[in-house]
Amino acid sequence: MKPHAPSLPSVSTALLAGLLAAALLPHARAAEPAVAPPPAPAASAPARVEGTSKDLESQLRDAMGRGDPKTKRLNLLIDGKSSSAGLATTPGAAVPVNPVDSKPPAAAAPRPREPGLVIRPQRPATPSKPPEPHKAIHWSYEGEGAPTNWGKLQPDYATCASGQRQSPIHIEDSEALRGPAEAIQFNYAPSKGTVTNNGHTVEVKVYGENSLTVRGSTYQLVQFHFHHPAEERINGQGYPMVAHFVHRNELGQLAVLAVLLEPGEANPLVHKVWTHMPLDVNDSVRLPPDLIHVGEILPRDQRYYQYMGSLTTPPCTEGVLWLILKQPVSISRDQLRLFGQLYANNARPVQPRHDRPVRDAVLIAPGGRP
Ligand SMILES: [Zn+2]
Repeated sequence: MKPHAPSLPSVSTALLAGLLAAALLPHARAAEPAVAPPPAPAASAPARVEGTSKDLESQLRDAMGRGDPKTKRLNLLIDGKSSSAGLATTPGAAVPVNPVDSKPPAAAAPRPREPGLVIRPQRPATPSKPPEPHKAIHWSYEGEGAPTNWGKLQPDYATCASGQRQSPIHIEDSEALRGPAEAIQFNYAPSKGTVTNNGHTVEVKVYGENSLTVRGSTYQLVQFHFHHPAEERINGQGYPMVAHFVHRNELGQLAVLAVLLEPGEANPLVHKVWTHMPLDVNDSVRLPPDLIHVGEILPRDQRYYQYMGSLTTPPCTEGVLWLILKQPVSISRDQLRLFGQLYANNARPVQPRHDRPVRDAVLIAPGGRP
């Protein structure tokens, strides 16, 4: 969705029609409360006038100032669309034209308020970047947006701080429940994908029939991404990197398969992703058909740890089934270095386990693979 900016010429010609309409259409309209708590319900809020210059602003003020503003309503045509200036409203109460409009009201506040008219300066066009979600501080891995502050950044991130079943965790064999468990059944096939550098990681959306089955439920692969260093700690040991394969079942429940990466031979799947990954943040590249075969990255030994945790990024939603393959697979130092240059640290620190059970699944995959 691209930001919409009204064009100047149509505004100026429409202004005359609008002024005329204002004079001819004196239909009464009850005033909105002078102070409405932002954000107001979109349905009841009048559209705001898109001011494009100081000149336009003063003309509009003049138009609205004539006569009794309590019974006046200014209708405008902007880019062929009808718009209207209702009566006294607040900057936060207007219907956003696009997501960029939902920035904090403070930006528009210093402007003098006129009865029934809210005028904003035209924003500079930003054609190339998709709109960012609007937060005072964006979550990240350092500074004010660092993991320790995630829970305070916005209300729906509260679980990041208050949750009792958060991820990642430090897994220690001495505390795990060691016993028989079913093998994870993997069903991966060559698939289409799109690789995105989203500012937090490099992520590959996967399209096709890819799934894993465990605990009687089949989870479809949605995407996979990387953390550097690995978020998981196993028996006191860290790893330089991990790949997380995010799956979802038909109930919307998530299962994340973690594949630990350690220095060694180049990794074939990583090679494909790195070859195509965009270096610019928010850039995406469509991968050649059938390029992605997630089965390529699975270790031969598919024993795993299993526990219930959360997303490791905001909003830190809980109820995520974690499946962590014990045997790491290799990644070359060159491959590690390239990712490290983009993301020196995009790992959330380990979270308290709070006596959660961790299963140490001792069974091996069907087919007798060691
Ligand atoms: Zn992850």
